[in-house]
Amino acid sequence: MTARLIDGKAHAREIENRVGAQVAERLGQGLPPPKLAVIRIGEHPSSVIYVENKRKACRRVGIEAILHILPETVDASALASLIRQLNADETVDGILLQLPLPASLDEAAFIEKIDPAKDVDGIHPMNLGRLAARTPGLRPCTSRGVVELLRSIGETFYGRRAVVVGASNLVGRPMALELLLAGATVTICHRFTRDLADHVERAEILVVAVGQPGLIPGSWIAPGTTVIDVGINRGKEGLVGDVDFPTARERAAYITPVPGGVGPMTVAILLDNVLTAAIARGGR
Ligand code: NAD
Repeated sequence: MTARLIDGKAHAREIENRVGAQVAERLGQGLPPPKLAVIRIGEHPSSVIYVENKRKACRRVGIEAILHILPETVDASALASLIRQLNADETVDGILLQLPLPASLDEAAFIEKIDPAKDVDGIHPMNLGRLAARTPGLRPCTSRGVVELLRSIGETFYGRRAVVVGASNLVGRPMALELLLAGATVTICHRFTRDLADHVERAEILVVAVGQPGLIPGSWIAPGTTVIDVGINRGKEGLVGDVDFPTARERAAYITPVPGGVGPMTVAILLDNVLTAAIARGGR
């Protein structure tokens, strides 16, 4: 069996087109464009690329993106003060704090300072809690993007055995909550999981978000599994995921490529979240 590829770029384009049309409609009603404030700290190479990709995507759909660059050495009070100012700014609909932060800054503490109504990454404890309580608000972008990709191939979720490898607040945990909400039976694996292969072998839907190239060999994947590779690893041969693509592709029914799978969906859902936040905050 050779798996069918799930084309994240094409689905992301569909979402962008819808968001772009809704933004244009709002402009036609005399409303201002939705506005996203992006905070980037330091010159972490991946962060520079991710922020640039997000800004370009905003431009494509008519969302205004304002970039705040703070030095690597910024102190906690200056960052807190910027977040407070953006929370209070009536013209700002969404705030994105690009992660990771320098080790000297407590990531969780700063995420908590963002107004949950402007938390377009969906990772404020209030938004994660809402997802856990089955009353989702702004949803974490990557896991929401994965659900949309799964729906696009006709995944029904109910009673299906889903295995999530990785348990971070950013990806793994919200992914498990999304799959649970959709009706799957979910197993979460992480760095302390024993016999990872045994869990992976039982998956009908497998989502891997760890950040280790080749962590999941094709031989662990049961024939017919749907494989979603969230991992992004930069190597000599460019970007690769966490799943050994050539061997996994021979066994899976569907698989996402890296790049061109989950990554574009994360950006598209961010745009959708900015629009959702702007709508929820009213016409201004
Ligand atoms: P993280 O480092 O915060 O979390 C990694 C998780 O993997 C942890 O829960 C850890 O327990 C688990 N883990 C580590 N070693 C393991 C092992 N041997 N077996 C099982 N679990 C193990 O990383 P993150 O922020 O969740 O990101 C994970 C990957 O996803 C990274 O490669 C990141 O670049 C990528 N990512 C991609 C997108 C996208 O849009 N495609 C978005 C966010 C993150």
